[in-house]
Amino acid sequence: MGGIHYALSKEVSSGLIRGIKLGSSDITLSHLFYADDVVITTDWNSRDIDNIIRVLYVFYLASGLRINIHKSNIYGIEVSNDEISSLASRTGCASVFFPFTYLGLPIGANMNLTSRGRLTLIKAVLGSLGIYYLSIFKALESILNTLESLRSRFFWGGSQDSKNMAWVKWSHVLPSFDKGGLNISSLKAFNLALLQKIVGTYYLLHSKDIIPLNSFRFKVGCGTRIRFWKDIWIGDSPLLTRYNRLYRLDKDKDCLIIDRIVDGHWNWNWSRDDIEKPLIDSKLLPSILSSTSWDNILPRKVNIFLWRLYLDRLPHRLNLSSRGIDIPTISCSSCNGNVESAYHIFFACDLAKDVLSLVRKWCDLSSPSFASYIWRYRNSIIFCPQPMKKGDLFDNICASSFSWLSHRGQMSSNWIEWLKNPLLLAGS
Ligand SMILES: [Zn+2]
Repeated sequence: MGGIHYALSKEVSSGLIRGIKLGSSDITLSHLFYADDVVITTDWNSRDIDNIIRVLYVFYLASGLRINIHKSNIYGIEVSNDEISSLASRTGCASVFFPFTYLGLPIGANMNLTSRGRLTLIKAVLGSLGIYYLSIFKALESILNTLESLRSRFFWGGSQDSKNMAWVKWSHVLPSFDKGGLNISSLKAFNLALLQKIVGTYYLLHSKDIIPLNSFRFKVGCGTRIRFWKDIWIGDSPLLTRYNRLYRLDKDKDCLIIDRIVDGHWNWNWSRDDIEKPLIDSKLLPSILSSTSWDNILPRKVNIFLWRLYLDRLPHRLNLSSRGIDIPTISCSSCNGNVESAYHIFFACDLAKDVLSLVRKWCDLSSPSFASYIWRYRNSIIFCPQPMKKGDLFDNICASSFSWLSHRGQMSSNWIEWLKNPLLLAGS
């Protein structure tokens, strides 16, 4: 990657590849590296494209690493499909038109991400973009706050330029499930955990004799009776109070000195790496009343919906009004008779009672899909020109429960049996 970066940068600086000017700044974007891919961007002209192909060929001659042109794609922005096809056939690349899919995401189309998709992207992409810098530097609080603010904005459906209402404080979304959050983890914990690995590496270097131990002075005998962390044997206090973070990472909290210093070398026994982040988070982030109930059989978006329902953070009319949003009415969109609160929508409204009674006659359980379909129905009445039919609600609940259980659970897929005896099948 470093070689290609150097070669392309040289071509850009000598004007053979023009790249793309970003706004009114002096920054020219010519290439990006992401995972195993290289994205080269330039003005749409055959001269630049030819030069790019030449650079890749020279890179092959110099390094022996061949770029498989036939597996590369050409994309054009505001260029006709014919032009893209023509240039692609000349270079040997494949032509790709917008919209297309990259790493499972639609590009150039309305991404229309669900809360599940946003959560996944926050964990997989936005949370790890800064891994290089965060593993080397302790980030400033203000930078971490800005990055967290961008992640929060994205999660609640906003973008860099627009902001949607955040229904749950971001510091309450980040914690683990047992702390009532969505298990995203904070960037601060990510940063500290990565730096902690460097501390671990430092001790490893001690143990390999790469960094000498002669700066340490021990006042103990053979170390078979003194506890390494809990007894006072060096300085005026136990090590657990002075190096509490490291103490918490030690698998054996009662270890003796002889366990940690073997033949004059450090001998550590740290917990697994993935324990560090939650541990740091647990100290930094607040805890909501009770743990998040996360059911792996349900789709993620339904889990997130139920989490918001539990916290009463759904955008029903009472919540919107209490947040100062001017709405024409706060009455229930289904019955128009009462204030639209979470309790009314899901328990007190005649619609909810009717549907719940049908569900209970069928399986004597309140399926989680019950609440999510009531909410969908409510939204369709308000926002869709052709709302869902009330009579379809029960059928939809049966169908989605069957789909979730048969796809994610262990249940054998028998639709007729499911309708007849859902409890038996769900328990099988
Ligand atoms: Zn109602």
